[in-house]
Amino acid sequence: MSRKAFIAGNWKMNMTAESGKKLIKELAPLVKDANCDVALCVPAILIPEMIKAAEGTNIKIGAENVHWAKSGAYTGEISADMLKEYGVEYVIIGHSERRQYFGETDETVNKRTLAALDAKLTPIVCIGELLEERENGSTENVLSRQLTEGLKGVDDISKVVIAYEPVWAIGTGRTATDEQAQETIAFIRRKIGELFCPECAKKVIIQYGGSMNAGNCKGLMAQPDIDGGLIGGASLKLDFATIVNYDK
Ligand code: PEP
Repeated sequence: MSRKAFIAGNWKMNMTAESGKKLIKELAPLVKDANCDVALCVPAILIPEMIKAAEGTNIKIGAENVHWAKSGAYTGEISADMLKEYGVEYVIIGHSERRQYFGETDETVNKRTLAALDAKLTPIVCIGELLEERENGSTENVLSRQLTEGLKGVDDISKVVIAYEPVWAIGTGRTATDEQAQETIAFIRRKIGELFCPECAKKVIIQYGGSMNAGNCKGLMAQPDIDGGLIGGASLKLDFATIVNYDK
């Protein structure tokens, strides 16, 4: 089954309105003939300006988080309807930095995922093991738990993008090998098959994330189960275009 590749950037807490607009302007002509879907997930305050900057291009703008409630007393949070109002299409959920520094759990990942789907946003649900979990052989248990709990109650799994991001590879310059990434993502696909159905699993886009860059993207993207990348550091520069054009 052919799945359309999807390369998304995660700006994290980087860029300003000015530098963001400049980067999108420079990226647009470089990625216009991409064979994959392309998105940049940006800090919430930059969304309106980046949506304008990306107008008329094939770059979609995403958010880095979303709250599960429609509205209410949740200081500092943003609802799915607020994102939709500006034309946001994607939202990252459960990034390891949110799990590590902001108390995100499988339960809150699940609530945010259901709220995003309800609003017709595409959630990019991040899962991944810590270094000690990889070393003590519990990677598959950790990923199984994150998938089972995080995706509870999802009706149509094909509307969810999964980003497999081994925590030890994020921002460290230490990428999973092509084989490690393929083997783990194949496991994730099998698990989705068990939780949902084998046919549904074949349709789900599963990205790799963790120090993916202009140099290693070809090898990773050549793996049969890897359908794209979630790119942190390299999405802040023109290298992002090289990754988007990995097949050229
Ligand atoms: C990320 O932020 O999801 C990520 C993978 O970061 P980096 O590419 O910098 O490792």
